[in-house]
Amino acid sequence: MSGIVINGKELGQQLRENMKQEVEQLNEKNVTPHLTVILVGENPASLSYVRGKEKACAEVGMSSSLIQLSADTSEEELLNIIDEQNNDHAVHGILVQLPLPDQIREKRVIESIDPKKDVDGFHPINIGRMMTGEDAFLPCTPYGIVEMIKSKNITIEGKHAVVIGRSNIVGKPVGQLLLNENATVTYCHSRTENLKEYTLQADILIVALGQANVITADYVKEGAVVIDVGINRKENGKLTGDVDFEGVKEKAGYITPVPRGVGPMTITMLLKNTIKAAKGLKGIEG
Ligand code: NAD
Repeated sequence: MSGIVINGKELGQQLRENMKQEVEQLNEKNVTPHLTVILVGENPASLSYVRGKEKACAEVGMSSSLIQLSADTSEEELLNIIDEQNNDHAVHGILVQLPLPDQIREKRVIESIDPKKDVDGFHPINIGRMMTGEDAFLPCTPYGIVEMIKSKNITIEGKHAVVIGRSNIVGKPVGQLLLNENATVTYCHSRTENLKEYTLQADILIVALGQANVITADYVKEGAVVIDVGINRKENGKLTGDVDFEGVKEKAGYITPVPRGVGPMTITMLLKNTIKAAKGLKGIEG
């Protein structure tokens, strides 16, 4: 048996087609969803991510602006710029590309973004609202993962979801979203003993540990749904995931590839969040 591949690029494109219509409806009310992206420094990977986000905005008819700051920008300068964007009514979403240079505290920056414009879903208010199941901006990668699973009508309720990785941007929130969907969730991480003991129980296995091809078929239960979040660059420059795709595909029921898996869904959910920001978050005044 060979697992069904969940292609995030195709799913992302389908979702973006629907978003074009949502943007047109907002245009009729004289609203164009606008995303401001702030980039500090010249990290080539960050610059490429930022360009991808700008291009994706344009494709669905949204507007975006890039504020590019030098690597020696002070925390105070960055906070002032965020404040201006918070107060600009034409701006619906604000994204500060991470990582930031050492002189800037990431936590202070994230907490300075207006939660109503926090389309990355990293602000503690949005994280808290996600945990309590209120309307919130969901962090884009975990949100995209859940959409990928739902796109195949896979039942999440009652299933055992095992998440490898406990970062604040992927592991922890994806486990929370699966719990919100009534899965039974187990978190594994670098200090977990006998990892395989847990992964072999997983109906849904989310792999976000950041090391190439470490999850091989012997970690996977027959028929499991395997979502590979990892993005690792091989010596030949090509991208690969955390999962040994060819081997695991023979055992899994469903599997996501790298590239064309979770990555394109992350950007798609950023667009979705920005459209949501333009419509307004339920339960937050202003
Ligand atoms: P991170 O480095 O912050 O976290 C990695 C987690 O994996 C940690 O919690 C650690 O405890 C755990 N871990 C590491 N080695 C382990 C091991 N051998 N066994 C069990 N657990 C182990 O990384 P992150 O930001 O969560 O990202 C994870 C991966 O996902 C990276 O490859 C990253 O590039 C990728 N990523 C992809 C997207 C996307 O859009 N597709 C978005 C964010 C991150």
